[in-house]
Amino acid sequence: MRRTSSRWITGAALLAVAVTVCVGLSLSGCQPAVEESDAPRVLFIGVDGLDWGRVQRLAEEGRLPNIAALMEEGSSGVLHSLYPYLSPSIWTTIATGKREDKHGIVGFLVDRGRTTNPTPTSSNMRTARAVWQILNDAGHSTGVIGWLVTWPAEPVSGYMISSRFHTLLRDKLLDVGDEEMLARKRQGVHPPGIWDDAVALRVDGADVSDDVISSFLGGDVPYSDEATSAVTELRRIYSSDQTTLAMAHQFFRSVPTDLAAVYFRGLDTSCHMYWRYMEPESWPEELSPEMVTTFGPLIERYYERIDAIVGELLTHRGPQTMVVLCSDHGFAGHSGYPGFEGELAVGVSMHREDGIVVIAGPGVEPGARIDGASILDVTPTVLASLDIPLGEDMDGELLSTAFEPGWLEDHPVSYIETHETGEQLGDAEPIPSPVDEEVIERLKTLGYIN
Ligand SMILES: [Zn+2]
Repeated sequence: MRRTSSRWITGAALLAVAVTVCVGLSLSGCQPAVEESDAPRVLFIGVDGLDWGRVQRLAEEGRLPNIAALMEEGSSGVLHSLYPYLSPSIWTTIATGKREDKHGIVGFLVDRGRTTNPTPTSSNMRTARAVWQILNDAGHSTGVIGWLVTWPAEPVSGYMISSRFHTLLRDKLLDVGDEEMLARKRQGVHPPGIWDDAVALRVDGADVSDDVISSFLGGDVPYSDEATSAVTELRRIYSSDQTTLAMAHQFFRSVPTDLAAVYFRGLDTSCHMYWRYMEPESWPEELSPEMVTTFGPLIERYYERIDAIVGELLTHRGPQTMVVLCSDHGFAGHSGYPGFEGELAVGVSMHREDGIVVIAGPGVEPGARIDGASILDVTPTVLASLDIPLGEDMDGELLSTAFEPGWLEDHPVSYIETHETGEQLGDAEPIPSPVDEEVIERLKTLGYIN
């Protein structure tokens, strides 16, 4: 067990300057080698919308060298999602090992029919304990960055930076010195004292260089409003993921925890915003050939970007670290579902069942294929790898086919009735954030709500 409060102060102060300089450069070359004693026991990388089939193809084409190497070193397979493929519900299922009837997070917004202004779901509504709480109970520290439905940030042993953090940074009130507003925003992180350190790592869309933008595009940006807003969106997506990566680099090193977990959203957003240019035949309207040329390659280049991010994050592993890379669902685009032929899929209906899971580390069977894995199985697998009993009330199981027989013999799965404490969990009402309107606007932009 690691207690982190005292080392946080010195570590954060020392690293703040170094990491700020590194942001936007190749971060892996900037970092000192990880001390074995500080390496996480579990390094968890969550990527929204990473699709099994597309990863397979791009890996075969040599475009995802880091993920391909991880798959070769470890075990991998389709991670089956659960319909209706709503990301807040799914990431909560991944974090709890339970279906939504047990964890209580059913969608993006809470509207129990009483209000005309639905509010985004929030962490206080969850009715099951998450993996970070279970690990804390077992004496393990946890660092969690960006996981969906973690507003307000939870009082973990370690730290948590909420999924609402990026939007809080975009708030026009960011620099307003209103103490009450600042106190509300600081609910987006735990402990609240890390707010300034996290904010200092912000990468703004305007700071992303034209060269970086061009690297995602297949041609010159046409002179049109459509093209201009497509580039603005790309700056936003990329800078948010860069901010997340910078926070992971800094916090993973300055506050070592047994579980180090980070979630990236940009790939899913890219798929929603640019799919029509990659598959123009799937879009009902005529698209300009210039837009198709320029933005057509973007999604698969974002896959390459995710691969580079995975490579950078792997610098945080030690010899005893178990690495888990997973997504919440795959992507079918505007058409292509069995049963969806002839219809236009937008928003959530672009999601599909086949996400991905890759596990690597001690005891993991090299190059093995994991069959029948479910989003329900991720938390049980993390728990079992740390010799923590699974709850009998969990809906998932250890992904045993990922592990060598000898390891399974040495680490027999044990069970307890439940990890719930009997404490009443799950408020009926969400806790509003200062950026709820922006969050809802964003959901509309992505076609998730009308
Ligand atoms: Zn999505």
